[in-house]
Amino acid sequence: MNKKHRVFSGSRPTSKLHLGNYLGAIKGYLDLQEKEGFDCIYSIVDLHAITTPFDPKKLQKQINDVVLDYLGGGLDPEEAHLMIQSQVPEHVELSYLLSTLYPVSRLQQLPTYKDKTKENPDYVNMGLLYYPVLMAADIMIYKADTVPVGKDQLPHIEVTREFARTFNRMFGETFPEPKAYLKEGASIPSLRGEGKMSKSVEGSYILLTDSLENIKEKLAGVPTDAGKGDKVPSEGGVANLFSFVELFEGKESRKEYERQYLKEGIKYKELKDTLAEAIFKELEPIREKRKFYEERPGLVRDILGEGREYCAKIAKNTLEEVKEKMGLF
Ligand code: ATP
Ligand code: MG
Repeated sequence: MNKKHRVFSGSRPTSKLHLGNYLGAIKGYLDLQEKEGFDCIYSIVDLHAITTPFDPKKLQKQINDVVLDYLGGGLDPEEAHLMIQSQVPEHVELSYLLSTLYPVSRLQQLPTYKDKTKENPDYVNMGLLYYPVLMAADIMIYKADTVPVGKDQLPHIEVTREFARTFNRMFGETFPEPKAYLKEGASIPSLRGEGKMSKSVEGSYILLTDSLENIKEKLAGVPTDAGKGDKVPSEGGVANLFSFVELFEGKESRKEYERQYLKEGIKYKELKDTLAEAIFKELEPIREKRKFYEERPGLVRDILGEGREYCAKIAKNTLEEVKEKMGLF
């Protein structure tokens, strides 16, 4: 390989992708695929999707939806490799080998584990605890050094760095310590007024494929206040609406709403409808490109086939090297 850097990142096929996934992750994918010297692998991490409640009958459709969202969002199959995690089983084998290097108690302290156990208290399984180990393996099997992600994933990148350091110390220099690549939209808030926008939290998100009506309805549900006060809220529904205004209508519009909040007051219905139009308009090119690929399933199959083949080769080499260094050959 003549490229200096390797990039890996993935999304769970738990539903179609939302604004947070786009602004926090995909925008980073696009930056890096265009950069000289970066070899990019972008994945649909289906093995991570089965750690929270899921319907096996819908999983393949959900995988296809994320593939289409990636391609619609601008992922360029000429510049990046697109792969489905479970099709390269070396991820799992490496994750087992890595798991022997890490204390269980540290995994239990990770914020994503705590969040997901709170969201699904009856579905706390080993896979959920193991998530960061498999994620470390996802990155390390390609010796990736750059990982475009949202802020919620930073603790997992730290874990991956620890894995790399520990492995290198115990068995000799093998893995780079990967760095997160963050975008401005690295932490898009939930429409519910608290927490982050998440695919698996109903009512928290706007999908890239939502209709204008859908977006209006969803924004209508964002909790607000009387529209007037002597201090602009710094958290909750109103603060989140202001953040969205800044992202989709610009800083000046945000300032204007903040001024109204402190003076004559805001009519939220108007703010929300204008915002919905701005979001819908921004997503138009994505919907169009997505439709192009949706109408060409053969092309999509070929793109995934190329990704699988490319990734399988690298993964096999890394796994052989790791096993040899661990005395397992
Ligand atoms: P789930 O609830 O199923 O975990 P999710 O919305 O958290 O879904 P993931 O598939 O876990 O999405 O994450 C895909 C990528 O999107 C990751 O890089 C993650 O950091 C990023 N991401 C997720 N939510 C947000 C958000 N609200 N703001 C910015 N980036 C986000
Ligand atoms: Mg997530």
